[in-house]
Amino acid sequence: MKIASVIVDVPAKHTDKTFDYLIPEEWTDTIQPGMRVIVPFGPRKIQGFITGIKSESAFEKLREIIEPMDLEPVLNKEQLKLAAWLTDTTLCFKIFALQVMLPAALKAKYDKKVKLAQGINKENLPVKLHEFFKNEQFFSWEDALKNGLVPILQREAAKGHLEIIYEVKERLKKKYIKFVQPLVAEAELEVVINKLPKRAEKQKEVLSYFVQHPDAVEMRILLKDLNISAATVKALVEKRLLTEQDQEVYRDPYQNRVFERTLPLPLTNDQQTVIKPILNTIENNLHEVFLLYGVTGSGKTEIYLQSIQEVIEKGQEAIVLVPEIALTPQMVNRFKGRFGNLVAVLHSGLSAGEKYDEWRKIQRNEVSVVVGARSAIFAPFENLGIIIIDEEHETSYKQEDMPRYHARDVAIERAKNYNCPVVLGSATPSLESFARAQKSVYQILTLPRRMNQQALPAVEIIDMREELRDGNRSMFSRKLFEMLKGRIERKEQTVLFLNKRGHSSFVMCRDCGYVMNCPNCDISLTYHRVNEQMKCHYCSFEAPVPKSCPECNSEYIRYFGTGTQKVEDELGKILPEARIIRMDVDTTGRKGSHERLLKDFQDGKADILLGTQMIAKGLDFPNITLVGVLSADTMLHLPDFRSSEKTFQLLTQVSGRAGRHELPGEVVIQTYTPEHYSIELAGKQDFDRFYHREMMARKMHSYPPFYYLSLITVSHEELITVISATEKIAAFVRSRISNRAVVLGPSASPIPRINNRYRYQCLIKYKREPELYPTLKTILDQYQPNAKSGLLVSIDVNPFILM
Ligand code: ADP
Ligand code: ZN
Ligand code: ZN
Repeated sequence: MKIASVIVDVPAKHTDKTFDYLIPEEWTDTIQPGMRVIVPFGPRKIQGFITGIKSESAFEKLREIIEPMDLEPVLNKEQLKLAAWLTDTTLCFKIFALQVMLPAALKAKYDKKVKLAQGINKENLPVKLHEFFKNEQFFSWEDALKNGLVPILQREAAKGHLEIIYEVKERLKKKYIKFVQPLVAEAELEVVINKLPKRAEKQKEVLSYFVQHPDAVEMRILLKDLNISAATVKALVEKRLLTEQDQEVYRDPYQNRVFERTLPLPLTNDQQTVIKPILNTIENNLHEVFLLYGVTGSGKTEIYLQSIQEVIEKGQEAIVLVPEIALTPQMVNRFKGRFGNLVAVLHSGLSAGEKYDEWRKIQRNEVSVVVGARSAIFAPFENLGIIIIDEEHETSYKQEDMPRYHARDVAIERAKNYNCPVVLGSATPSLESFARAQKSVYQILTLPRRMNQQALPAVEIIDMREELRDGNRSMFSRKLFEMLKGRIERKEQTVLFLNKRGHSSFVMCRDCGYVMNCPNCDISLTYHRVNEQMKCHYCSFEAPVPKSCPECNSEYIRYFGTGTQKVEDELGKILPEARIIRMDVDTTGRKGSHERLLKDFQDGKADILLGTQMIAKGLDFPNITLVGVLSADTMLHLPDFRSSEKTFQLLTQVSGRAGRHELPGEVVIQTYTPEHYSIELAGKQDFDRFYHREMMARKMHSYPPFYYLSLITVSHEELITVISATEKIAAFVRSRISNRAVVLGPSASPIPRINNRYRYQCLIKYKREPELYPTLKTILDQYQPNAKSGLLVSIDVNPFILM
């Protein structure tokens, strides 16, 4: 008698364990660990994962598995082991740790079919199966179950004759998507808005929307965002104010593209020095973590490529993580160009169906390399030879929902399982990683020079307060303006970078730097043009826009951190001859548009590329000789102990976009706080000094990398309930861990109320506390069943967002 251990798909405390089920006779040869099955659970039928098979159970009267969902395991042994580790280290439900490793198509309900493999006819299969195919390549999984075909299908699948596919419905649906955009100019829209009768409120709202976003927007998004019906839009289309268009969406952005093959470049001496220890670990199956510390343009990517080459030649596989935002076509090209069809790409721009297709290529060993964003770390390879994390300092490697994992930790854990190296690359390593390298926990490899021997670009920091004192009220300093003009005359290109916080616009005093914050939340208020109000996006506080600065009485307090749109307008006025490409959430909402805009810029169709964070990375065009940062300080105001680090990283990163090729580059950073060390040292591109300066601050306040952090956040609709629960939790933690640890709180979270729920937190700073995890687990066990009482407790181990 065979018994299966099953983790059921019910994320709750009382189901967060394995359940025993009998494996019915007919499935004994079929069912394996890593497969999904349907099991009875109370009165319901639900999905579960087989995590193990055994011959005895401590329970009597076991129920039987109803049926398998897969012909082959969807998770391999190592992934099952990894899931257990994830559960322990991030304190998540077991089911979340399993599901995070699968593509979305395997999580939702999709059409499931048995399909002939490529190049196989039904005549190649046992006669018994012929009738089911009728005249098609596939038949439904239900038919397979009804007719007891699973064992025979499984045998054929093992021979490579058959596979199970999940038809994602969305994929079969629209090839076209409807977009709406204004037909008339902004000024005309404003006129119409004023003329429309009062009762046409919805129409006014739509037109106002387009005043702010003049670009085409997907109809579905427009309707949802403004909560209007299609009829409202239709009325405006009939008035010839708006126009509707069908736009084709790409299925596979890489499908029909030819990638120019590249060959390994002869390495420089510096590169040879750093690649040697990496190759050595690959050859000898050694686990080691390398920190590849090299300025932008120092040849790190070539090191990745040649290390992977070695791994592929050994018959092994590679995972390359790139931050979502840097997963640009250029980056993908470099990998596809070197390894062609051996590369799968996983990023959020793909549809569920496309992601599933890429995942299947990995699962079936058709590729050897995956290049992807955070979750690609779970790629189902079975013989990993290297894991590379580019821009390792990026905070997007941390997932904020359960399981709250950091891709770097997962990488190291997987690499231990496979005895292979991890390479963390960055020009501005995270403080945590650099400190580990200093202590030889990681091995540091340095590429100190740029490939082209060019000096790093000269950086000039401009004090915008001084500009104002001298009577310049433009968002461009005189210096930047002169340089822009020069570039246009010389036909060189400029990147203008707007350091915006989210999409919000806030109010700041241009004399003293005062930022208008919400009185309830440590968050700046957002400016709303429609009614000239300042609003808090978290607690709905509202106030009129101040006429003068509450701190210094200056009248130059205004709407700041303005949108890219505004910058574009102003550029149009002061440099009418400049051709501008604007890249922000508005212009890149459409699939493929990001890529197209970059291509246009590369082809010289514009003088200036203007954009937000998304242009900070990965750009590598020879003709860029000037980079301007319009407002360097906005991020410094965030209530986050990493805000200096993030500012430094971002400024350094952007500066690296200039002068990557023959032409020398210049960088201008405009700021209202030039004296802040993260701005000053980013200007000097001096990571080492920044590291020491920032380490002092971290040490003084007991932050990472000197201490670990765990954050407990409690929320409830009633303040008293939250406070008393958090007090109990804090007291419990204090009673269970040593007094070397620091337990801060209970205190209100930096954002103390969201959606009418009060939020309190307790921050634990510690070095080594073996009792802490069990304590945190107990807290979750204690409070998770209380979801009914409305109390929510969440725990983030090594949090990146402290709000
Ligand atoms: P990083 O990843 O550190 O930013 P890259 O790998 O992109 O640096 O290298 C910068 C530029 O130098 C690229 O254009 C790359 O093709 C080129 N390059 C890298 N290694 C070599 C080499 N060994 N010989 C010649 N050119 C190289
Ligand atoms: Zn608020
Ligand atoms: Zn002021």
